[in-house]
Amino acid sequence: MNIKDLIAREIYRQSGYVAPEQSGAVKLDSNENPFSIQEPLKRILTEKIFGVDLNRYPEAGSPELRERFAEYYGVKKNMIMPGNGSDELIQILCMTVRGRIKGVLVPVPTFSMYKIIALNTGCRVIEVPLDKKFDLDVDAITANIKSNFPALIFLSCPNSPTGNLFNRARIEAVIRKTPGLVVIDEAYGAFCGPSLLPLLKKYDNVIFLKTVSKLGMASIRLGFLIGHPDMIAQLDKVRLPYNINALSQTAAGFFLDHQDEFTKQIKEITVRRDELYQGLKTIKWIKAYPSRANFIFFSCAFDSNRIYNKLVEKGIIVKNLNLPPLMTNCIRVTVGTKKENEAFLKALQDITPERGA
Ligand SMILES: *Cc1c(COP(=O)(O)O)cnc(C)c1O
Repeated sequence: MNIKDLIAREIYRQSGYVAPEQSGAVKLDSNENPFSIQEPLKRILTEKIFGVDLNRYPEAGSPELRERFAEYYGVKKNMIMPGNGSDELIQILCMTVRGRIKGVLVPVPTFSMYKIIALNTGCRVIEVPLDKKFDLDVDAITANIKSNFPALIFLSCPNSPTGNLFNRARIEAVIRKTPGLVVIDEAYGAFCGPSLLPLLKKYDNVIFLKTVSKLGMASIRLGFLIGHPDMIAQLDKVRLPYNINALSQTAAGFFLDHQDEFTKQIKEITVRRDELYQGLKTIKWIKAYPSRANFIFFSCAFDSNRIYNKLVEKGIIVKNLNLPPLMTNCIRVTVGTKKENEAFLKALQDITPERGA
């Protein structure tokens, strides 16, 4: 068997997404909520899960989940579709939106899964660099729209890994200029203020992605796609039945029942974020960028691989983004608990530039 002959070239060439495994470490690399569910809430969740019939398939289209989350986001029930994490929804979009116009456009740097999923589903990928302030370069995007007619444009709002929110007028300019769909991914929306969801009333070619992963429920793999009912009807044909398992559906109900608790945690994370940003600003060899999300992006005056390894030695895991030319010696750190942030800052302060650097 010659595997290389069998595998799509775009897949064969990839090295594969690796998430670091570090038990007992201060984990500040994946933008999770650092707070776990404590007693007595954990008991309430356990009770709910106790009642699940594990021998039965869950309800195929998760109707109750759609109804409750539609209300949560303030949209109609036929405008929402659940996914096994929003990653699955990105995959469904890439598989479905391939008519006479096709292909995916992404600004860079951005969330790496857009490109990986697009390549894995056979989509052409066009990458357009962000401007110096990490905002959308509308002229460059427009030029690409005119020559390539992408079917999907992914905009992470706020953007990962840079942490900023693109200018609203620029987002709308892109929506108006493309004949395809603009996917506004609000994975970090809760940390940044009002949602852009009202744009759904103004344009029929916008799709929103939401997820509970960054809000305290990364384990259950649950995201939502919100858009025009006619588009949802098409995407629903591609979604696998039972894509949201019964345990996740139950835990999702729990999440909605206890929104106050999660909202409190999100408020605390934004306070910690601002503290962490101030802390980073005191380190001379670092340039930290303001963040509207639950992480902070910064560049270092010397080799970030070395900094990353030093932090690992101290049991702290961050996301090393040393990917020239767009990102050289950059690191993204998730906002953790007060104690975790202090440990991270202390470890960072102990690292000194190499002689001659
Ligand atoms: C984390 C993240 C996602 C993926 O969310 P899941 O629901 O966990 O699959 C999507 N988009 C962005 C920008 C993210 O950072």
